[in-house]
Amino acid sequence: ENFDSMGLQENLLRGIYAYGFEKPSAIQQRGIVPFCKGLDVIQQAQSGTGKTATFCSGILQQLDYGVVQCQALVLAPTRELAQQIEKVMRALGDYLGVKVHACVGGTSVREDQRILQSGVHVVVGTPGRVFDMLRRQSLRPDYIKMFVLDEADEMLSRGFKDQIYDIFQLLPSKIQVGVFSATMPPEALEITRKFMNKPVRILV
Ligand code: AMP
Repeated sequence: ENFDSMGLQENLLRGIYAYGFEKPSAIQQRGIVPFCKGLDVIQQAQSGTGKTATFCSGILQQLDYGVVQCQALVLAPTRELAQQIEKVMRALGDYLGVKVHACVGGTSVREDQRILQSGVHVVVGTPGRVFDMLRRQSLRPDYIKMFVLDEADEMLSRGFKDQIYDIFQLLPSKIQVGVFSATMPPEALEITRKFMNKPVRILV
């Protein structure tokens, strides 16, 4: 299978090819289509398998670009990873006009608030800063319909469990959830049981 046969929007395909991808990786072949259908997906895959482009494509395909409100939230364990995901999302969504912002610690809260206020479609961030932005109501949860936990096992081992749960409580109840994790420790399984609805499980 290739990217052309996944039913993706023309301008998303352009972004994917312009980024230099020619053929989908194994996880992309199996994961993009179910994500685009709005299904909850658990993808057990190591980094280096192409998981970033899997959930970025799934999100970019489903955004309503006429509504400049945060519709997708991605959490990652480190600032560097969040900023890397932001870059990939922006590059793949270049022809769609996606507005993405990374909310991470160690940067200006004021600047985050200013950018969120100006309007974005997607927020990528670390749990601490994202929760802070939600608590201050600088990030409005009302339009969020997709929620991705990247490197969930790593986030849990860094002690972000409570913050992840707190964030879940603030999000709309009917929301698509994607969990990406190299391993599935009990705490990760608990998240999938508590917050996911009939998830599709993909092991790469
Ligand atoms: P990730 O697992 O998302 O961290 O991706 C690992 C690396 O593989 C990154 O450098 C990506 O740019 C690259 N990559 C992901 N998908 C593809 C693809 N379909 N074709 C070529 N390279 C890819």
